[in-house]
Amino acid sequence: MKKNEIRKHYFLDKYVIISPKRGKRPHTTKICQEDPTVSKTCFMCPDAKRKPVYEIHDDKGNWIIRVLNNDFPALSLDNKYAYGKQELVVETPLHNKELHEFPIEHIKKVLDVYSERYESLMKLEKIRYVLVFKNEGGKAGESISHSHSQVIALPMIPPMIREEILAIDKYQMEHKSCPYCDIINDEKKSPRVAWEDANIFALCPFASESPYGVWFIPKRHVRSLHDMNQAEKESLAHAIKYISAKIESLDISYNYFFHNSIEDCDHHMVLKFAPRPNVWAGLELGTGIVINTVPPEDAAKFYNKGTKKKVLRKKKIKVSA
Ligand SMILES: [Zn+2]
Ligand SMILES: [Zn+2]
Repeated sequence: MKKNEIRKHYFLDKYVIISPKRGKRPHTTKICQEDPTVSKTCFMCPDAKRKPVYEIHDDKGNWIIRVLNNDFPALSLDNKYAYGKQELVVETPLHNKELHEFPIEHIKKVLDVYSERYESLMKLEKIRYVLVFKNEGGKAGESISHSHSQVIALPMIPPMIREEILAIDKYQMEHKSCPYCDIINDEKKSPRVAWEDANIFALCPFASESPYGVWFIPKRHVRSLHDMNQAEKESLAHAIKYISAKIESLDISYNYFFHNSIEDCDHHMVLKFAPRPNVWAGLELGTGIVINTVPPEDAAKFYNKGTKKKVLRKKKIKVSA
């Protein structure tokens, strides 16, 4: 790509400027934090006697993933002025292990916990929307180094989500099809495919707002993690491990978040990875138009480097129960 390009989102009224010349390489801005094997002050480590909201155990009865209430929540169920709930998913008892270092089977279990908490919090009274997300690295808003993700339950559907829901409804009316199913179909031969197997399509979207941004789209039209079968979750765990390891190799922070279908809609679930090598400045905050210095085609090339794509594409995933 030689010239800068203004690109429009597949189905939203959103624009980005793809500008590879502005920065040949994103700044490496991941803020390194103290990284001891075990932190004496870390409340997520097993030594801290905390009462979990939910946990899963290994064969010996030790917890391997646990969910805690957020001690300093922005929202709580006992505050009618800021009603909601916030939880932390402690992804491992080990203080110094990151998500991309977990075995596939463990990442799959983290997905199961996300799914369980999503379904539980959606059942709470007056809760309209639940977001599962992760902040990895200082620039992405992470404040504790122990590997964890978060779940927030909101009493309203956030405007950004509402906008996307309306755009998907409109698309479905006009095309009689799902925009994400169509994106998989339209992009499958494009230079923007970052990773793929029989169940998951990982795409650097055409108008990516994030350098190295990736969408993980299940190939089957599923509404949420809850609707995914074991083989699909295993594929997603593979994709997450592969892509997050690649992002970690660049030493940049990232966020990811799950967009599940809301109740009464039949929308396609998508997991969005947003690496955060740069800080949004005046243009981004003042117009909502983002400058992305890494063309998605280059990002996909980076993700594919060193892999035999054909092998990956043909790889069959074992169905486990
Ligand atoms: Zn810890
Ligand atoms: Zn679909």
